Amino acid sequence: MTALHPPADLAALQHERLAWALAHAYEGSPFFRAKFEQVGLRPADIRSPADLAQLPFTTKAELREAYPLGWAAVPAERIVRVHASSGTTGKRTVAYYTAQDLEDWTALFARCYALAGVGPGDRVQITPGYGLWTAGISFQAGAERVGAMAVPVGPGNVDLQLELMVDLQTTVLTATSSFALLLGEEVARRNLRDQLALRVGIFGSERWGEAMRARINTLLGLDSYDIYGLTELYGPGMGIDCHLHQGIHYWADYFLVELIDPDTGAPVAPGATGEIVLTTLRKEAMPLVRYRTRDLTRLLPEPCPCGSPFPRFDRLSGRSDDMIKVRGVALWPSQVDTLLSALEHVSSEYQLVIERHGGRDELTLRVECDLDLDTMAGGPLAEHIAQRFRAHVGLTPRVELLPVGALPRSERKTRRVFDLREE
Ligand SMILES: [Zn+2]
Repeated sequence: MTALHPPADLAALQHERLAWALAHAYEGSPFFRAKFEQVGLRPADIRSPADLAQLPFTTKAELREAYPLGWAAVPAERIVRVHASSGTTGKRTVAYYTAQDLEDWTALFARCYALAGVGPGDRVQITPGYGLWTAGISFQAGAERVGAMAVPVGPGNVDLQLELMVDLQTTVLTATSSFALLLGEEVARRNLRDQLALRVGIFGSERWGEAMRARINTLLGLDSYDIYGLTELYGPGMGIDCHLHQGIHYWADYFLVELIDPDTGAPVAPGATGEIVLTTLRKEAMPLVRYRTRDLTRLLPEPCPCGSPFPRFDRLSGRSDDMIKVRGVALWPSQVDTLLSALEHVSSEYQLVIERHGGRDELTLRVECDLDLDTMAGGPLAEHIAQRFRAHVGLTPRVELLPVGALPRSERKTRRVFDLREE
């Protein structure tokens, strides 16, 4: 099997691996055995991916309750490494790996690099965090697996990042999109663009829109790829877009993807947006059976023109838990990304501030723009943005224009929504 080609009969392989995976989870883990018993089923009753819908979901809250090792499907002495999630939305979730799990993770990550055209001769600067976080070490292992040179800098330290980028002639930058933007703006400020050899960026760990992607590409002179992954499923490296950038190819020989309605749990109609539910096909230490990720996307059933046989889902449109209700209207940060990416004179950076005054929700949208704000130029633009927002979302915000660079940049994930209403 070459890096980019799954076996000819993917469906047969999924069947065979699913039977192994469910039996493994059931036999190895009291946690998963209880899930089967809850609905009176045994692994042999699930004969195909379509039968999975008969099993209950697994949630992040359940995994947290199993802290720290209660969800293992192998004896603890077979676990050779642990990681933990960054804990942005609650208590840490611990992830554990057998030696085979680490090997599989590296092989999958190598596919991501290969799909982005990264290989021998490339110099890959790794800025995601090392340590408990899954990112740094896996970006490094994947880079080494495809024969590239890994430059393991880790997060932060902009001066060192730019120094190495110039001196080592880094060709591939890996980062959160927030940090890539921060570095890109520093490159512009220090006038370093001509000294860079960057050609590929691999960015992930947060949702980022097309406006941000275009800005990063321009500032750094590279083509950026959107990588998918989560700690509960190995980590990053579970899928990536190809050079056509028409959705994320994911590794369907290692995990199954279902899309469900986050409210009802029922499968969504073909082409509709739903929450990604994952079932692992190969994981030993920590299998997932119908795990609810909260990530929202839609499946792209047509074959990709790039020729890759791996299926695709769209870039993430958000998380099912990041919907905000303002005056009874549901609002998603991704809607703001889409809206801003269609407008001129604005950057990708914004903040939404929701306050309550006199029992009424007030929504403020802060946007960076490149107009001279000391003149009257901003007025019509602010008015235009408010109108577009109303047409797109159904709410009229107060629009505040700021110069480009005025909003904070982050080295990890940028916070853009500030809900200041009293609970
Ligand atoms: Zn493709």
